[in-house]
Amino acid sequence: MKKTERTLVLLKPDAVQRNLAGEIISRFEKAGLKIVAMKLVLPTADQARTHYQINPNLPEKILTHLVAFLTASPVVAMVLEGNKAIPVVRKLVGSTEPLQSAPGTIRGDYTLDSYDLADADGRAVRNLVHASSSLEDAEKETTVWFTKDEIVDYKSIREQIIYDVNLDHILE
Ligand code: ADP
Repeated sequence: MKKTERTLVLLKPDAVQRNLAGEIISRFEKAGLKIVAMKLVLPTADQARTHYQINPNLPEKILTHLVAFLTASPVVAMVLEGNKAIPVVRKLVGSTEPLQSAPGTIRGDYTLDSYDLADADGRAVRNLVHASSSLEDAEKETTVWFTKDEIVDYKSIREQIIYDVNLDHILE
């Protein structure tokens, strides 16, 4: 069985501008996810559009708002690795509309916005984080933000204590 998968996460401009990047990254780390790539980037319009067009269901109006939002200020892009990383990160992030996100999730704890307010103001809903929703999307999204060389394969001690059957090496 495949133990790990990788997901693409963006800390959107509201997260970076509100100095929440460290807090959010810390939640992913504490949950056991491993950072295998990370950078601060001011997205181009092409990059933002390519990223969001991977999901063909987004209406053009929301896509336009998302491109305007993402190109307004830097984002932190990262690739996180772990057991079932894609659903785990989505669970930690919470549901798309902050109004509905459960307490304890990143969106539920750190932001307050709703579709009706965002739609009335003509902007994307501000929900701090993007996280891939499938393996296929994660692979495509990762290529928008990272070259192969920027993704680092390495072992973590934490993974050994959680997953290794034989722990004899600890007392060697
Ligand atoms: P998620 O980011 O949770 O995967 P979607 O892929 O459905 O959600 O939407 C992408 C982004 O578009 C959301 O994170 C949000 O910022 C924005 N968005 C989605 N639906 C709306 C809406 N009805 N009004 C405003 N913004 C929206």
